[in-house]
Amino acid sequence: MKRIRPRIAIVGAGLGGATAAILLSRAGYAVSVYEQTAAFARVGAGIHLTPNVMKVMRHIEVERRLRETGFEPANWPSRDGATGEVLLEITLGRVAEERYGAPYLTVHRGDFHDILTNAIPPGAVHFNKRLVGLDTTETIARLKFHDGTEAEADLVIGADGLNSKVREILLGPEKPRYSGSVAHRSAFPASLLGELRLEDCVKWWSPDRHVVVYYVTRSRNEVYLVTGVPEPEWTAEASWLPSTTNELRRALEGYHPDIQRLIGASQAMTKWPLMERKRLPLWGRGGVVLLGDACHPMKPHMAQGAAMAIEDAAMLVRCLIEVGANSLGYALELYEANRIGRTTRVQQGSQRNTWLRDPSDGNPDWVFGYDVFDAALVPTAAGGSSFG
Ligand code: FAD
Repeated sequence: MKRIRPRIAIVGAGLGGATAAILLSRAGYAVSVYEQTAAFARVGAGIHLTPNVMKVMRHIEVERRLRETGFEPANWPSRDGATGEVLLEITLGRVAEERYGAPYLTVHRGDFHDILTNAIPPGAVHFNKRLVGLDTTETIARLKFHDGTEAEADLVIGADGLNSKVREILLGPEKPRYSGSVAHRSAFPASLLGELRLEDCVKWWSPDRHVVVYYVTRSRNEVYLVTGVPEPEWTAEASWLPSTTNELRRALEGYHPDIQRLIGASQAMTKWPLMERKRLPLWGRGGVVLLGDACHPMKPHMAQGAAMAIEDAAMLVRCLIEVGANSLGYALELYEANRIGRTTRVQQGSQRNTWLRDPSDGNPDWVFGYDVFDAALVPTAAGGSSFG
């Protein structure tokens, strides 16, 4: 690559793509983000911003806004679904902040996405641009969109999520695999809880299913619940379907009376299939690279899918800066080498779904304590990688 500062195209303005756009533009790169939707919407979902993510948020100077918006739970108990017995309790709040060097927040995904996308330089995001094709030569990539328009870039970052078109162009069509579980999701006003007192953040378990409940706003005026429940098949083409409180009641039959009352208070229930992919044989080729769900989608059971997309984005930018733009291929190799182990470990942990259930898998230090800007870099694999 001859250019001093390569032109970078990011496909997808989700959580990973937005983080990459902010960090790259701050590092002086010319960045264009191509997003298929016409505008961003506040879709009903909560998200955990664990300390490893908050270190990236601090770096891009949105920590204060996130603290003002999101909720900081004091603790996170894990409870037996039927009896309510505490199986494990993690202390969060100030203790977690001191231990890990950044706070632990829970927030509405829409609010988080709004804060992130507002930090992208004006004019960098191009809406209504669904990628449909990508031609690459040794030095340049040409992106093709559904409206017939095209764009050129020296580096293309595929941050286009679970059904990534960039992944498909690199590796051929292959649908993600239904994991056999669904997640019911509902975000609703806390005023609907009546006399029911909620804990800050809690996960209730039984052998093959669970429900997680937490506040998503600093003022505690909005609650989020999300399950993981086996369901033999998912045949709908849609990425989610409407659900009902009755359906959730059936799914969590036998759960503690507090959960039954919580279900009674919930509103606007939706149901999402939890999808997975086999480990990809490559993370990119030439000047094309993947990050986040496009690369390693996972069950949400460690609440780390977005966290891994955000860490990927930060590591990719770190490698570009450390190696320098004249060795783009080497920077991408270094990125892959420094992400594949951690994302695979989190993917496998999410699949097992034992994380923080009881003392047998009760130490979160390796996840929360990680600092993507400070971690010692591992060298690239001998013999090169996809980018060689
Ligand atoms: P996305 O956020 O999915 O963004 C992809 C973007 O690309 C979208 O904006 C999309 O419109 C765009 N796009 C797609 N195709 C194209 C195209 N062809 N052209 C242009 N644009 C395109 N993670 C956590 O860290 N914590 C949690 O608590 C958590 N809870 C979850 C609960 C559930 C039930 C589920 C299902 C997931 C949860 N996750 C959680 C996971 C998290 O939501 C994802 O891992 C994360 O959003 C992935 O980020 P991404 O940037 O890779 O992709």
